[in-house]
Amino acid sequence: MIKAICRMGNPILRKTAQPVTKDYLKTEDFSQLLVDLKDSMNHHGGIGIAAPQIGVSKQIAIIELMGFNRYGQEVNLPLTAFINPKIEYIDLTVQGFWEGCLSVPGLRGFVERAQKVKVTYWDLNGNEQSLEAEGFLATVLQHELDHLFGVLYVDRIKDLTLLSYQEEYNEFVIQKASLD
Ligand code: ZN
Repeated sequence: MIKAICRMGNPILRKTAQPVTKDYLKTEDFSQLLVDLKDSMNHHGGIGIAAPQIGVSKQIAIIELMGFNRYGQEVNLPLTAFINPKIEYIDLTVQGFWEGCLSVPGLRGFVERAQKVKVTYWDLNGNEQSLEAEGFLATVLQHELDHLFGVLYVDRIKDLTLLSYQEEYNEFVIQKASLD
């Protein structure tokens, strides 16, 4: 079911979300949450979404990136749920992308993040998995996982002159790489 997106200013986006238990993964509530996340992500046009963004303060985020996306980056990550994720920074060299967020509609901001990360998480069955990622996918992972810890991309913009409305971004900003 498509849910309304919680926007910046809603306190749920500023809380650390609750870890879930393995028993929870067997519940109807969990299955429904996954459907709601996917429906809401697709409807609102995101490449990832975290549970707090649809009003559920649980440590669950989903990401789906296939082929060349509209940001000109080729990344392949089939629909994946990251449950109770932990992030490890493998290469602290930073890279910057213009980011956007369903919870901060109409804006774009240039954010520098670690170039390479390793995420350890539970899959849908509660089995531990890990994923190493670099480049654009590393940024997407950091953006989505930040949502589980009360952080928005705007918090990570170092130079606020690089925060722009979408229309002005389209008109004045040369860099094409950005994410929703
Ligand atoms: Zn976001």
